[in-house]
Amino acid sequence: MASAVNRWHDAIGYPLQTISENFMITVTDLKKTYHMGDIEVNALNGVSFEIKKGEFVAIMGPSGSGKSTLMNLIGCLDTPTSGTYVLDGDMVSQLDDVELAAARAAKLGFIFQQYNLLPRQTALRNVELPLIYRGISGAERHRRAAAALEIVGMKERTDHKPNELSGGQQQRVAIARALSGSPSVILADEPTGALDTKTSAEIMDILQRLNREQGLTVVLVTHEYDVAAYAGRVLTMRDGELVGDEKQTPRMTTQVVTMAGVAGK
Ligand code: ADP
Ligand code: MG
Repeated sequence: MASAVNRWHDAIGYPLQTISENFMITVTDLKKTYHMGDIEVNALNGVSFEIKKGEFVAIMGPSGSGKSTLMNLIGCLDTPTSGTYVLDGDMVSQLDDVELAAARAAKLGFIFQQYNLLPRQTALRNVELPLIYRGISGAERHRRAAAALEIVGMKERTDHKPNELSGGQQQRVAIARALSGSPSVILADEPTGALDTKTSAEIMDILQRLNREQGLTVVLVTHEYDVAAYAGRVLTMRDGELVGDEKQTPRMTTQVVTMAGVAGK
């Protein structure tokens, strides 16, 4: 741990006392400028914040405020124009594409609004995919994927293809896929954007349980206050800047019985 911290301490030249190993995500003066012909778009205009290990954070803000740009940077899918990003002690803003991909695979699990499952593959196969890319053998892969599907309450549907599943069930499979790589952080961009209210609550219950029981750090973009209510902290973006950072008492899981049933197997 100490060596990881020193690695970016040396790179950034910060005084040691400003560094905490409790931080999962530290972004400092993050800027992202897109060039469209002659026009420059400052999608992020100097954003700084820290997210502690085990936090559940919602990012809100109007369309075009820079939420997805920020998530792409946090997700190691893109690099900033300037500023620094430290993920779990590693200075990822200085990594090349290959190293970024490795950081992504080691630390991050992604959930998207449209689930992004492979349509011709079963739920089990979809969840196994990230493990195939990592070269994990068949039996171990199967075991891990089945365990991840059980955690999200999809044990009975491992052989179903996406078109044989409801939206909420598909999103559960997508969460299992994110979990199969044993991430430290779940990044979710509008994960309930295509779901009805009741199903959204079920998905948020799962994310909250993963946060509380497995200690996963969760960062979620949403424009719905009902969804942000499950987080313990809300960051608000406007015009590429962070304009709000509020702690709150999270809405608690409403489906205690269902969740206990899943957790207790
Ligand atoms: P949000 O997710 O909050 O709606 P985005 O991060 O998608 O906001 O976009 C922030 C700003 O950056 C917007 O003005 C958007 O048009 C612009 N933008 C985003 N992605 C690109 C891109 N690839 N090329 C050019 N401009 C972009
Ligand atoms: Mg967006």
